[in-house]
Amino acid sequence: MNDLGDRYEALALAHLQAAGLRLLARNFQTRFGELDLVMRDGDVVAFVEVRYRARADYGGGAESVTASKQRKLATAAAQFLQAHPHLASLPCRFDVVGCPAPRNARPSTGCATPSTPEPCRTLFSTSFARTLHGDALQVDDEALQRYGRDDSKRQGEPLAVALPRTREEVVAIVQACVEHGVALTTRGAGTGTTGAAVPDRGALVLSLERMDRILAIDPGQRLAVVEPGVLNLALQRAAGGHGFFWPPDPASADRCTIGGNLACNAGGPRTVKYGASRDNVLSMVAVDGRGRLFHSARPLGKLATGYNLTQLLVGSEGTLAVIVEATLRLQPQPQASRALSASFRDVESAALAVTRIMAQPATPSALEFLDGKSLRLARAHAGDDVPEAGALLLIEVDGAGDSIDGQAAAVRDAVQVEGLLAFEAAGDRARRERVWAARRALSPALRTLAPKKINEDVVVPVPRLPELVAFLDRLERDSGILIVCFGHAGNGNLHVNLMLDPDNPAQAAAAPVALARPMPCSP
Ligand SMILES: Cc1cc2nc3c(=O)[nH]c(=O)nc-3n(C[C@H](O)[C@H](O)[C@H](O)COP(=O)(O)OP(=O)(O)OC[C@H]3O[C@@H](n4cnc5c(N)ncnc54)[C@H](O)[C@@H]3O)c2cc1C
Repeated sequence: MNDLGDRYEALALAHLQAAGLRLLARNFQTRFGELDLVMRDGDVVAFVEVRYRARADYGGGAESVTASKQRKLATAAAQFLQAHPHLASLPCRFDVVGCPAPRNARPSTGCATPSTPEPCRTLFSTSFARTLHGDALQVDDEALQRYGRDDSKRQGEPLAVALPRTREEVVAIVQACVEHGVALTTRGAGTGTTGAAVPDRGALVLSLERMDRILAIDPGQRLAVVEPGVLNLALQRAAGGHGFFWPPDPASADRCTIGGNLACNAGGPRTVKYGASRDNVLSMVAVDGRGRLFHSARPLGKLATGYNLTQLLVGSEGTLAVIVEATLRLQPQPQASRALSASFRDVESAALAVTRIMAQPATPSALEFLDGKSLRLARAHAGDDVPEAGALLLIEVDGAGDSIDGQAAAVRDAVQVEGLLAFEAAGDRARRERVWAARRALSPALRTLAPKKINEDVVVPVPRLPELVAFLDRLERDSGILIVCFGHAGNGNLHVNLMLDPDNPAQAAAAPVALARPMPCSP
């Protein structure tokens, strides 16, 4: 610390901490002004201005400096309240905490002695603040930035971030938000690409990342009980130790949470055979919009009657309730599996092959489609392991050991369409891993190439896949925007990426037109 201001700030901080206040953030920058310290004394979040600076530092009178800083702070507080009108109606005080003089500071150069409290703000009620311990409530700039965005790259401006560890804390947070009219945005790991976890301005972000315990793996009932912040990959590893797996396998599995998977009904390559999150959950414990805990169902294999709250919550994207526990259906790991691949001259022939594979009885456990542009990118990642072609299908079959040859043969027959370049039963495990790693890396790779790309998740009935790829081809020509396309073809689900160059005005104008253009209906 070589600056006088820093020294006084440190002294003031020590003094306030000795008086029982806890530091939440330092040099807190709001849109409306800068504050030196954000402290909490149990039930009050206080924004503190440290008044310091020697007369000589400014070449002016300390009094006038103090007065101008005070004015600035008062303006910031007033603007802040104006921007968050719900705070004005809170049944609590807003106090500027005057900085007590450090013991060894001379009045002419040090902090001012405690002054009459002036307008500032208390954010939440006593019960809320008492419930969250340690750093479970964060208001510093870095946290607000980090938890204010998701993989859509949109940036929100939350008021604070709450990181509870227990369902009781979640209940208290929701109740406090209801009481004080503060909007709340639930968050898992923020890997969603649609902005669903991006908070409204002035909302509280409720991150479930610290509720990350696997509570039970029960092979006898083929189920797992987990908290919402468990990472998908962590569950796969734990279930794998018992010979089971949880089918949803988004490419973000190493980062995304089970709560987020359920709230978005996440899927992945295995969805074609095993279903998405919706098909693999038995029940949930959740907190509703009034802060009441409820069970969506009993975790039984069959529910004959009653409303299906579990399914209502799946895909609700945090708008109905906060999931605090889930009982998930596990699948036994197959005895054997085999990776196959088929390369094609063009996307149309690959799309036709998809419909033929899905029309025969051996359901593949993965059926992924990559167009020629995706393949070029994937080759940059995995080299010659990825073929040069107009399109590629990555296929897997799994099941009992003695069924694999038959399934592979059925797929080989199905892909025999005009335009097939090569069919391969990729026996080499390491090579297969490299090709799949390249497939998983596609999404971030595209984002690196075109940070402002528009990613649409398009689903059509499988027989209409050939029409979809032909339509996208026309759209690319007409809009002048490069369109890269890959995805879970077995579900008719393709990730359509408009590789927008934001500095190109023609493309910027063409993008909304392209997005609004409907795919013609088949006769
Ligand atoms: C590289 C990459 C690849 C991806 N691949 C796939 C893929 O193959 N398939 C796929 O489906 N998705 C994919 N995604 C999207 C994303 O990873 C998934 O949607 C994932 O399920 C989001 O989980 P999350 O924990 O990050 O949730 P977040 O992004 O934090 O939140 C997503 C939504 O869920 C809500 N939410 C989160 N937790 C809870 C909770 N406990 N209670 C209530 N609501 C909650 C949030 O409010 C928000 O609406 C991918 C994303 C990336 C970045």
